[in-house]
Amino acid sequence: MKHYATTDDVPMAQRFAAEVARTWAMSELNIDAFDVVFVSPTSGSIASIYRHLDALDGQHSTFDTRDAIAGRVRTCDASQVYVAAGMTANETTRAVLHEARHIAQLRRRTGRVTELERNELERDATAYERSAYRRLMGG
Ligand SMILES: [Zn+2]
Repeated sequence: MKHYATTDDVPMAQRFAAEVARTWAMSELNIDAFDVVFVSPTSGSIASIYRHLDALDGQHSTFDTRDAIAGRVRTCDASQVYVAAGMTANETTRAVLHEARHIAQLRRRTGRVTELERNELERDATAYERSAYRRLMGG
């Protein structure tokens, strides 16, 4: 059963925030182009989206995510960032910056990630999200 649907039905403010963060992060992190895909749960909570993406991924667990700012990159396909539809513009900006950092991490490594490494990658992405958000919004 598919637990999420991609959607283009998102407010202009969210779409614009995603696009600004996408192009900014691609340039700053020097990573290949990626697309932002908006998703909304077809049943249950936003967490069901992640379970579905994890299953698709072929390895059960990828990166931890927080509930409030919901984004995801699949480790098998770093060309797309999944972002929950309906977040505010600021939440969307932060989610895209965070996931872009995970893309940069994925480009640098191969093979399975240990639990310890995963925690380190998550800390790195969260730290990047904070500093990048400041720099992007501060102009
Ligand atoms: Zn993360």
